[in-house]
Amino acid sequence: MSQTTDKPITLGVDLGGTKVNVGLVDSDGELLFVHKSLISASKEPEAVIDDIMAGVNVCLNETGLEAKAFGIGVAAQLDNEGVVLSSPNLGWRNFPLKKKLEKKLGLPVFVTNDVRAATWGEWRYGEGKGVNDLVVLFVGTGVGGGVISGGNVLTGCSNSGGELGHMTIVSGGRKCRCPNKGCLEAYVGGWAIAERAQETIRTLSVEGKRMLTMAGSLKNVTSVTVNQAYRQGDLLARLLVEETGRYLAAGVVSIVNAFNPCVLVLGGGVVEGIPELVTIVKDIVPDMALEAAVDNLKIVKAALGGDAAVIGAASLAQSLVTKS
Ligand SMILES: [Zn+2]
Repeated sequence: MSQTTDKPITLGVDLGGTKVNVGLVDSDGELLFVHKSLISASKEPEAVIDDIMAGVNVCLNETGLEAKAFGIGVAAQLDNEGVVLSSPNLGWRNFPLKKKLEKKLGLPVFVTNDVRAATWGEWRYGEGKGVNDLVVLFVGTGVGGGVISGGNVLTGCSNSGGELGHMTIVSGGRKCRCPNKGCLEAYVGGWAIAERAQETIRTLSVEGKRMLTMAGSLKNVTSVTVNQAYRQGDLLARLLVEETGRYLAAGVVSIVNAFNPCVLVLGGGVVEGIPELVTIVKDIVPDMALEAAVDNLKIVKAALGGDAAVIGAASLAQSLVTKS
């Protein structure tokens, strides 16, 4: 299939701990083609770059289009030169990703964090379009966020601003994967929902029988099991979902009080799977947050779904397209 367009096209990549999504996006944020695959099991940097290149080739060959620049959102902490300082998900440290990709691609490369790319996508082309004060909260396996304040992306002193998943919602609470206890992520992240579900099933073995049977064993109970059982009307799963919604709302109350956004976008795999969480948050937050903070507040589910980081990364790469 060959496509034509007059608009400058860029490549956008969403690189996570297990998958790489590569897409072609035009200058209006339109996703023209996307290719999704798993990364090599070794996660070695050179092997993953080959995985990215394979995705790029599929996109270009299938569409017959040409890309002017390349943007990538990677699950990692980065410096300003596009070096991956550390990525617990990929197991990388001090890897010069931008340089390596520029050499392979022969294109200008923009490197950013995956959550920031997704925030940018939702801001420019999703639910945050035209809004100057916006917070995006992504609830997936982990919980990440992005803050746009007065039309600027909040970066912080060492480029780690917007780590909303690690705000404390319960002092001395559940152990997080960061050094802290009681973080929002330690209650509503996919891994934390799995842990909470497993503990509950262990305590309430009669009520937890359906989830245990569905998963096959206690250690296989995940947030997906909880969601599936919830869809079947399981009472314990419903209690877990409602409890998750209340924890999420507690985090959102602090976020809207702190940043006073016009729009609060909820996205990520957990929210996509259990959109009822958005409803629970919308019910609770207006009663718990400061009146001024919720006066004009809209709470919505992300519009771009799993493609937000691909679209955002490609859109950030548009800044590298030379006008000719
Ligand atoms: Zn934490």
